[in-house]
Amino acid sequence: MSGITNVNAIRRNVEEILRQLPQGVTLVAAAKTRTNEEVRAAIEAGIQVVGHNYVQEAELMKAALGGVARWHLIGHLQKNKAKKAAEIFDMIETVDSFLLAAKLDRECADMGKVMPILIEINSGREAAKSGVLPEEAENLAVLITSLSHVRLMGFMTLGPFSDNPEDSRPYFKTTKEVFDALSRAGHANIDMRFLSMGMSSSWRVAIEEGANIIRIGTSIFGARS
Ligand SMILES: *Cc1c(COP(=O)(O)O)cnc(C)c1O
Repeated sequence: MSGITNVNAIRRNVEEILRQLPQGVTLVAAAKTRTNEEVRAAIEAGIQVVGHNYVQEAELMKAALGGVARWHLIGHLQKNKAKKAAEIFDMIETVDSFLLAAKLDRECADMGKVMPILIEINSGREAAKSGVLPEEAENLAVLITSLSHVRLMGFMTLGPFSDNPEDSRPYFKTTKEVFDALSRAGHANIDMRFLSMGMSSSWRVAIEEGANIIRIGTSIFGARS
């Protein structure tokens, strides 16, 4: 796909997914490898949040598109990019260590802002994936409560990749259980509101299991080349 055809397909895809979403679920367009033109088409069709995996690419894309949309970091963040990430993004979905949270906190303090963050949960216990194990999440959450310029607002998870959405269900369930436990614990300075899980193949299952942020690339923009 290219040019006009692609733009039209993207519009239709966004409208179709938005029509199917229950109230209160936010559709994040996962923009990695996509062109500015493709992402602009998605925004014009109703996308309000763009998710990007890479800080530098997001910076260029955000500048090219102007002040439209909100921006979530959905890829792993290295500490040496925390300052730039704090400048660009409206939410960091992938916090997975106290050192990273503390670095973000210092950068946000310098900028006079408070950054909403999610903890990334490695629900599949995969060595190659980032995120904290489900049983480590509350510990990290409590440490983060000491920081005043980041605000913990929920969890994000990927889960092991599979073409069959049902394979993802147990990992989404685990993440929701930890989410509910932390919500019930009622720690000060934590506001558990967002559960980001589900991608192109798995978003319906994710919503059934409690997701209120879904991150979709392929079903909006087509297959990544
Ligand atoms: C690429 C990506 C997505 C979207 O994946 P699709 O299968 O293309 O919908 C969602 N979340 C993260 C973290 C991603 O990197």
